Amino acid sequence: DSRVSYIRNSVTKIADYPKPGIIFRDITSTLADVRALTYVLDIFSERYQRSGITQIAGIEARGFIFAAALADRLQTGVTLIRKPGKLPRAVHQQSYSLEYGEDTLELHRDALGATDKVLLIDDLLATGGTMQAAAKLVSQCGATISEAAFLIELSGLQGRQRIAQAGVSTYAICEYD
Ligand code: 5GP
Repeated sequence: DSRVSYIRNSVTKIADYPKPGIIFRDITSTLADVRALTYVLDIFSERYQRSGITQIAGIEARGFIFAAALADRLQTGVTLIRKPGKLPRAVHQQSYSLEYGEDTLELHRDALGATDKVLLIDDLLATGGTMQAAAKLVSQCGATISEAAFLIELSGLQGRQRIAQAGVSTYAICEYD
């Protein structure tokens, strides 16, 4: 798919960010390129139209951008999975381990229910810890998960396998080692 090559080339590679030895994949250049952004939304829409998805759950913060734009294409609602302390009503919480320490995500308890079929979305899959926690939150609400979708998968880190442990399949538009 020539659209995938175009999208792949729109991502900026930043060496030694946020620390020495790490290659950061910066998607702000993809968002700023209307052709790349349109291709991203076209590819996601083609995959998920007529899939019965009722809500697209975006992970703070870059996941929100894709969730909102795709929800407009697919005519679904948007659900926010957020960092601690940001959501005003009662929440479910999930903590997950990082390289150093721990992080937590939250979801409103009443955000989703048993009749919802949810697409989870984020910009990039690394170790899968973030998405695994997000999937657990959606399951705690009793909703069904359609799939976990990403713009980019860093396939060397085995994140897809970690998400599969939560019983969820993964789709990514582009892949890097
Ligand atoms: P994981 O939990 O899979 O290890 O990390 C994924 C989370 O960290 C995602 O929310 C993603 O936005 C962020 N992340 C980690 N590395 C990168 C990167 O190289 N580029 C971008 N854009 N996000 C990253």
